Amino acid sequence: MEWIRPDNPDYDETRKLFNAMIDRRPAVIARCSSPGEVAEALKHARNHNLEVAVRSGGHSVAGMSTNDGGLVIDVRPMKSISVDPEAKTVTAGGGLTWGEFDRATQQHGLAVTGGRASTTGVSGFTLGGGSGWLERAYGFACDNLISVDLVTASGDLVTASEHENPELFWALHGGGGNFGVATSFTFQLHDLGPSVTAGLMLFPGEAATEVTRAYRQVALDAPDQVGTALVYLTAPPEEFVPEDMVGKLAVGMAYL
Ligand SMILES: Cc1cc2nc3c(=O)[nH]c(=O)nc-3n(C[C@H](O)[C@H](O)[C@H](O)COP(=O)(O)OP(=O)(O)OC[C@H]3O[C@@H](n4cnc5c(N)ncnc54)[C@H](O)[C@@H]3O)c2cc1C
Repeated sequence: MEWIRPDNPDYDETRKLFNAMIDRRPAVIARCSSPGEVAEALKHARNHNLEVAVRSGGHSVAGMSTNDGGLVIDVRPMKSISVDPEAKTVTAGGGLTWGEFDRATQQHGLAVTGGRASTTGVSGFTLGGGSGWLERAYGFACDNLISVDLVTASGDLVTASEHENPELFWALHGGGGNFGVATSFTFQLHDLGPSVTAGLMLFPGEAATEVTRAYRQVALDAPDQVGTALVYLTAPPEEFVPEDMVGKLAVGMAYL
């Protein structure tokens, strides 16, 4: 276990979240590599009366995965991943990002509904439900859960599945990070491919109403194999973006 305190040169990098507007200073960050270390960190928090936050991919926009003056349990060191191509299942450590997860399952032509951004954490995403490109065909990420291993607030290591602790398993389907520290997730995977087509159509912001109405119809008519998304964004300075759109509001219709 690595304890990172404000005097550690890695402190600032480790406490940083995706949303740079969140600037909180925990008293200590416990980088945990195993469920046993998570239990140890929780014990430390209890003994020192510290508020606890759990951090994985760090994409909570509201900053729920950190705090001021408390203890942050950082599960990012738990990066194990094991794919069973016969059973089409995967067991993934709580510290993986979706990019890391997809790279491992993709080798077998298998996938599950995951984050649209590759840097989102498997943990926070799945515990919150998890809406992604494959949801129309396979449901949210949490709909594909077979089991979750987690450490409860009292430090017990438990498994939640349809057969073991079923009520806890139910709560982990969208209940967020409120029921313990998840250390690994087992998912059902699905065949994907052999090829996947993806694209983005960008329209100027003034066309928002028209594009949104058209998108609604496209999404209704499309088969479940087509994942869709509508995004409002400030057009970035990318090669594929016309110069006069850069920096302005744009509406993107994306599909996979
Ligand atoms: C750029 C971006 C793109 C996104 N795209 C999508 C998308 O396509 N679909 C979608 O559904 N959502 C999306 N989101 C939202 C994102 O899925 C949620 O914010 C999610 O909670 C992030 O998970 P995380 O592990 O990265 O974040 P974190 O900030 O680490 O954690 C988020 C929450 O989960 C808790 N948590 C994290 N790990 C654990 C754990 N191991 N055990 C218990 N609790 C834990 C934290 O305490 C916190 O409350 C996106 C967010 C961003 C910033």
